[in-house]
Amino acid sequence: TKLPASELPPPRLDYRSISENVTSKSLNALNRKTRLPNDAVASVARAHSESKRISSELNAKRNARSAIGERVKRSADNAEREAALSEASKVKAEVKELEARLDTAEQECLRLALLLPNDTHPDSPLGPESSALTISTHGPKPLPADPKRDHVAVSDRFGLLDLKSASTVTGTSWYFLRHEAALLELALTNYAVSMAIQHGFTPVTTPDVVRYDIAVRCGFQPRDDADPPVSHMYQISPTHTSSPELVLAGTAEIPLAGMFANKVYSSLDLPLKYVGVGHAFRSEAGARSADTRGLYRVHQFTKVELFTVTTAEFSEAMMEDMLSLQKSILERLHIPFKVLDMPTEELGASAFRKYDIEAWMPGRGAWGEVSSLSNCTDYQSRRLHVRYRPQGGSAESVPSRLPFAHTLNGTAAAIPRLIVALLENGAQFDEMGRIVSLRLPTALKPFWLDNKGRDNI
Ligand code: AMP
Repeated sequence: TKLPASELPPPRLDYRSISENVTSKSLNALNRKTRLPNDAVASVARAHSESKRISSELNAKRNARSAIGERVKRSADNAEREAALSEASKVKAEVKELEARLDTAEQECLRLALLLPNDTHPDSPLGPESSALTISTHGPKPLPADPKRDHVAVSDRFGLLDLKSASTVTGTSWYFLRHEAALLELALTNYAVSMAIQHGFTPVTTPDVVRYDIAVRCGFQPRDDADPPVSHMYQISPTHTSSPELVLAGTAEIPLAGMFANKVYSSLDLPLKYVGVGHAFRSEAGARSADTRGLYRVHQFTKVELFTVTTAEFSEAMMEDMLSLQKSILERLHIPFKVLDMPTEELGASAFRKYDIEAWMPGRGAWGEVSSLSNCTDYQSRRLHVRYRPQGGSAESVPSRLPFAHTLNGTAAAIPRLIVALLENGAQFDEMGRIVSLRLPTALKPFWLDNKGRDNI
């Protein structure tokens, strides 16, 4: 895998920690079902020790070259000078060769180390999705499963979704939201942003197009577990098929993380808390067909995203803080939901720990993921170069020795999934079992635009 073209310096990975923990890092990758070349962690350690060896040989050669340079200057006669010059050109060639070997060893080390996932929180459950641990449940008592509550049926009753036109305009799994569904998108977006602002977050709208390099540095590599590897990203500038320059953001987490790239903060400025409004684009290659009905799994959706940058000591506390905001956003929507501590096989490459929230969707007869929260520790900041100056640290500390910040991202509102949950939980029926109206949470009222002439919502 070739590294994408970049505006940033190469990622600064912790080779020392990898070399000192080959067994536990290999086990970690195994627990997370990360597909790696055979013996990848040990190969990083070998390539690292090889680069260190070449590097010290190179330093010695460079010193020798300077010494010979001096001899050339101070040579007493022509013969001595000729001898020194010929030695100098030999050493120069050796330096050049060592530089090339060092570059190759360092590239190999980086290439392999970039494939390794983040470490895992010791409390994260081991195993596949079914091993997720329910931490807490919230909201009203779940309604019984009932196919009549299916969000597509509720949408049809009120003319809320136009999938047919969208399929003509773009394709399947694209959609037009109409009437109250369109208003719900606007109201939910503003509601979630407003809740985040009250929680100390700074609002920001984000570019939907990002450099492929930034996406990769955030941990969004093409998935190598499919053959050929698939990427969930839409490329928009096919300058090179395997290494596009620009992609549509799969989540505002990518532009938000990129906003901090190549920056050094004072620890007094941390934590930084942003709430971004952006659109997420996902090709969803290989998605299960049952989920692709209606709005549940679509190619484009509006997402309100929380993103924070903290010191290393504070990221676990920040994760709990972000979770409490996510819970209060959902609690006021009166939907039953539960918080899950996600197991190793469900953690993306960047996540040290991940909590998902699932809401009850009675029409689907299932809990469905509505939000996700990840502590990426220093995985993204090592790739994007986000550092901080610790309190009391000397102002002139060498920037390259400063600690890396921790980054966290979480969903404040993934609009289509919330619409599914609100339609399926809020549909009201008459005694004949026909849908007559839709009840929506009062928390959305301040954000609701008057929709003249439609009174059954
Ligand atoms: P992720 O960034 O993959 O953790 O997704 C964040 C949230 O976006 C999820 O918790 C879902 O609520 C929602 N989501 C993810 N993929 C899709 C999709 N294809 N269509 C609609 N919503 C989605």
